[in-house]
This record gives sequence, structure tokens and C-alpha cells, in this order.
Amino acid sequence: MDFDLSEPHQILRATVREFCEREVRPHAKRWDEEQRFPHEIIAGLAELGLLGIRIPEAYGGSGMDMLAYALCVEECARVDGSLALTVASHNGLGTGHVLRFGTEEQKQKYLSKACTGEWLAAWALTEPGSGSDSAGLKTTAVRQGDEWLINGTKMFITQGSVAGFCVVLARSNQGVPAQHGITAFIVETRTPGYSASKKLEKYGCRSSDTVEVSLENVRISDAQRLGNVDQGFLDTMRILDGGRISIAAMALGLGRGALGMAIRYARERQAFGKNLSEFQAIQWLLADGKTELDAAELLIHRAAWLADSGRGFTSEASMAKLYASEAATRVCNNAMQIHGGYGYTREFDVERHLRDVKLCEIGEGTSQVQRMVIAKHLIRE
Ligand SMILES: Cc1cc2nc3c(=O)[nH]c(=O)nc-3n(C[C@H](O)[C@H](O)[C@H](O)COP(=O)(O)OP(=O)(O)OC[C@H]3O[C@@H](n4cnc5c(N)ncnc54)[C@H](O)[C@@H]3O)c2cc1C
Repeated sequence: MDFDLSEPHQILRATVREFCEREVRPHAKRWDEEQRFPHEIIAGLAELGLLGIRIPEAYGGSGMDMLAYALCVEECARVDGSLALTVASHNGLGTGHVLRFGTEEQKQKYLSKACTGEWLAAWALTEPGSGSDSAGLKTTAVRQGDEWLINGTKMFITQGSVAGFCVVLARSNQGVPAQHGITAFIVETRTPGYSASKKLEKYGCRSSDTVEVSLENVRISDAQRLGNVDQGFLDTMRILDGGRISIAAMALGLGRGALGMAIRYARERQAFGKNLSEFQAIQWLLADGKTELDAAELLIHRAAWLADSGRGFTSEASMAKLYASEAATRVCNNAMQIHGGYGYTREFDVERHLRDVKLCEIGEGTSQVQRMVIAKHLIRE
């Protein structure tokens, strides 16, 4: 029961759910098997407002709040983790960075195209040698008059080969502590020197586009700089706060989808002359799963509420992501257990949910990194 949702949020949830059941569920398994980005769904996402969830209507977006963003991602994930990842990263990272720190000209130019799906957004922080230690990035941005020359390699970039623009974090100042010498840039992917060099074969979220991006003598004007020079890392941390709420919501949706499958299967499958659902051992797995996912939802809604009321939510977003991703991974694992041998086959969607949900413990900061963030806030307080 959505006890805390306003009527517009309830309508939004129902609308996205209906869209995903109709347009996504029939294809999600095939997209995963083909490991193919589903370009054909983009127009539908745009029409529904899912490519500009938080972008103001003035730029063509839906102008909704953080809670709405979490609900949209959760509903996509209930059916397809890959699609949820696309929606989360496009809205939270790529367009989110432009929305929060871009100039008026940048917003006019990039956000309107992002909302229609003409240009999907990517966001490139991680590198082959720096993930959790993200300030250790090596990509360089050297100022040459009114231009910047960018060189480096980015790893695990979602939408890296299908995006129209990519927000790139690069080291602009070698002479200061790592966190204080990073600048963000908007790089249009058609710019000479930008190339998506390697499509990664993944364990889960296989129809989401994840690539290695190479930046070789990418020359862009200072008008493409996003935010202040050398301040990009601090801005990045703010962007990740919101992103973590969406990854928590993705985990919640995947967990809820898997729990629903487990309940249906337990009601139908017979063993020892009874339905599985009559065995207490199975009932307890279901009860624990429901309890943990509802607890995760409360943490997600608290973090979203703090964000929507303009308060700090860094630690709360980390708690939501940490708990939701670990709880949902347990739930998906138990859902497969309830399906027995059949769950281990590709015939049932539960294995896809289990593969997809693992990413939520890794992307946008691993569980270990979330614990570091929470502990840092706790000790400082
Ligand atoms: C499918 C997918 C999509 C992604 N999309 C994007 C994207 O769009 N843009 C982007 O920039 N990045 C993206 N990433 C990158 C992602 O954010 C990183 O993979 C993640 O932050 C972890 O970094 P790493 O893989 O380098 O692991 P590492 O940092 O090498 O960590 C390896 C292990 O060591 C642990 N560890 C590291 N440091 C510590 C410590 N101090 N204490 C305790 N444990 C520690 C980690 O928790 C982890 O378990 C994506 C990744 C994946 C898999």
C-alpha cells in the first residue's frame, strides 16, 4: 500500500507500471539475451516524460521531484533492470549534472534534446585505474586559449556508445590536491576524438549500454565547461547523492519484481502433496523479503523527501542505496531458491533479476563506499 504517496505520485506509478507491462515486459528477456540496447523504446520513454523526469517544463521536461524520479526507476526495474539503469543514469547523472550546474545556454541546448530522446546523456567519471577512488582519475583537460584539450580513457560508461553527449570529468589542475583540480565538461559524442572503444559483456543489465570511452585530443570550447574550473569533483559528489537514490529504487523494483514471481510460483508449484506456499520455510523467505523491501522503500522515500525539501541527504541516500541493494539482492537470491531448478534456467525471469540486481551493490559507489560515507557523516556529527 502506498500510504505516503500523493495522488499525482500514485497516478505516475500506475502510468509507468502500465507502460512497462505493455511495452517492456514482452521484450525484456530478448533484449537481455541479445545484449542489445533497445533503441525502439526511447520514443515511448520520451512520450511518457521519463527522459526528463526532473527537468523543468521550460526545457521540455516533466518537472517532477526526486520521489517521482525514484518511483519511475522502481517501476522500470520491476520489469527490466537494464531499462531502469538507462532511465536512472540518463536522468540522474548526465542530464542531472547539466540541470544542476549548467549555464542557461547549456540547459537550453542539451536538456531539450535529452527530453525528446534525440540525445541520450552519458556521464563519465570512472576510469580503468580509478573507481571507488574516483578523485584519482587521470584524464587530463588542458586549457589552450578559449579551448580545452581532453585526453584519457573512461571505463564502464552507461550510454557511452548511444548518447548524444557525455559529461566528462577530467583533471584540470595537477598542482592541487586531487579533489580540488577536477573540472566537468559536456562533450558531444560526435566530437572528433570521442570514441566508444569497447562494448563490455556483462553479467547483468545486459541490454543497458556499457562501454569504455576513449578521449583522444578532444578539443572543445570553454562554453562546453560545466560548472567552475577545478570544482567539478565537489559537484560530482552532489550528483551522486541523487543518483544513489535512483540505484536504491532500481534495487527495490528488481526485488519487488522477483518477490512477486516467487509468490506466484510458490502458490502453483507442488511438492510432497502441497503447494510450496504451505511450507513455513518458504513462507518465512517471503515474509522476510516483503519486510526488507518495505524497509528499503521507507529509507528511499526519506532520502527523496529530504532532497525535495531542500535539506542535506548525502548520508540518507547512501543508507537507502546500501540497504536497498543488499536487501534486494537477498530477495532475488531467495526468489530463485523458491523456483528451485527451474529458477536456474533462462525460462524464468527470476535469474535475470538476480543478475541485474547485483549491479546495485556496485554502481554509483559500492556497498563499502556507502558504509564509508555513512560512517564519515556519523563521526562528524
Ligand atoms: C554496469 C555498470 C555501469 C556503470 N556506469 C557508470 C557510468 O555511467 N559512469 C561512471 O563514471 N561509472 C560507471 N560505473 C562504474 C562504477 O561506478 C564503478 O565500477 C564502481 O564505483 C566501483 O569502482 P571499480 O569497479 O573500479 O572498483 P574498485 O574501486 O577497484 O573496488 C574493488 C573492490 O574494492 C573495494 N574497495 C575499494 N576501496 C575500498 C576501501 N577504501 N575500503 C574498502 N573497500 C574498498 C570496493 O568496494 C570493491 O568491492 C559503472 C559500473 C558498472 C558495472
